[in-house]
Amino acid sequence: MRTPTPIDLRTLSREELERLAEDLGEPRYRGRQLFKWIYGKGAVSVAQMTDLPKSFRAELARRTCITRLEPVRQLTASDQTIKVLFRLPSGRHIESVLIPDFDETGRVRRLTVCVSSQVGCAMGCAFCATGLMGFQQNLTAGEIYDQVWQLNQLAETRFGRRITNVVYMGMGEPLLNYDAVLRSVALLTDRDGLGLSPRRITVSTVGLARRIRKLADDRVRFRLAVSLHAPTNAQRSAIMPVNRSEQTDLDDLIEAIRYFEQRTGQIITYEYCLFEGFNDRPEDAHRLADLTRRAPGKVNLILYNPVEGLPFCRPSEARLQAFIRVLVARGVTVTVRRSRGQDINAACGQLAIREPTRSEV
Ligand code: SF4
Repeated sequence: MRTPTPIDLRTLSREELERLAEDLGEPRYRGRQLFKWIYGKGAVSVAQMTDLPKSFRAELARRTCITRLEPVRQLTASDQTIKVLFRLPSGRHIESVLIPDFDETGRVRRLTVCVSSQVGCAMGCAFCATGLMGFQQNLTAGEIYDQVWQLNQLAETRFGRRITNVVYMGMGEPLLNYDAVLRSVALLTDRDGLGLSPRRITVSTVGLARRIRKLADDRVRFRLAVSLHAPTNAQRSAIMPVNRSEQTDLDDLIEAIRYFEQRTGQIITYEYCLFEGFNDRPEDAHRLADLTRRAPGKVNLILYNPVEGLPFCRPSEARLQAFIRVLVARGVTVTVRRSRGQDINAACGQLAIREPTRSEV
C-alpha cells in the first residue's frame, strides 16, 4: 500500500489549518495555534509545538511535513547586499537577496528582501539572465514565505533589525504563479505571520494585461510595479516577447493599468531599464511621458546591469541626466534605482542559477 503524500503545513492558510485541526478531531483554535507556530515562530517540526496535545502532534507528524528551504550558499557584496542561494525540496535552486539601505550616518534606513516566485522564467526578456534559464517550476506560497522568513532572521543577525520591505522582483514572473503569490502576501501581512503592511510589499510584473485586471478585481492592497522598458510597441516587442502576445501589447497594457488604478485607487510604478542607444534618447523620454499621461504612474529608471553574453550596455551618466530632464520637464515623478550587489550578480536582471560546486555546498 502506498503511503499518502504528507500535507505541507507551510502552504496552508489560517482557515485551512483550522479545518485540518477539525478533521483531526481537534477544536478549530488548534489551527490558529498551528498558524502561529509555522508562520510566526518559524517552526520546522511539530515536535517544537509544545503547547499542542501530544496525541495531536503525533497525528500531525504522521500526516504532514513543513517545507523549509535549505540555504546552500551566501554571498555578501561590497555594499552589504547579501544574496542567498536556496535549495528547494524539489532539488532545484532559487536566489533571494537582502538589500540594506543606509542613511548618511551609516544607519540602516530600510531592509528590503527581493524574493523569487518561480525557478527560471518563461517570459524570455532579451536582457535578463533569468530568462535565459527558461521556466522550470512554480514556487509554493510556503516557499516564497520561507525566503522572507529566513532573510528576516539574517537581517536581525547582521543588522540588528527586522526587514521593512518585500519586493517580488527575483526570479520568475509573479503573475504566472498568481495564487501562490497572493497566498504568500496574505501570510506575510497576517499579524500572526510577519505582520508586514501591504504598502511595503511590491509585486513586479512584466505586464500581463489580463492578470493585472484580475488583481484589480481581487482588490489587492500591495503595490504594483510594471516593467515597461520601452515606450513603443516596436521597441518593446524587440526586447520583450510578451508584448507580441495576444492581448498584451502596449495599448492593452495601458488600458489594464488604467482599470487597476480606477478599481484599487492605487498609482503604479513603471520600471524602465535604460539601454544605451535603444530606449534612452530624449524622444523615448517624451513618448514615455505620453504613456504616463494615459495611465498615471511614477517612473523608476533602472541602470542596466550587464549580463555576460547579452548585447546591451548601460548608458552614460550624461544620457541618464538628459533623459531625466525631459521627464521632469513633462511633470513626471522620476526615481533612479542604482542597482545594488552588482559584484555578486545580485542586481536586477542578474539572478540566474550557477549550480553550487561541491566545495561551496
Ligand atoms: Fe522573466 Fe522578469 Fe527576466 Fe523578463 S525580466 S525574463 S519577466 S524574470
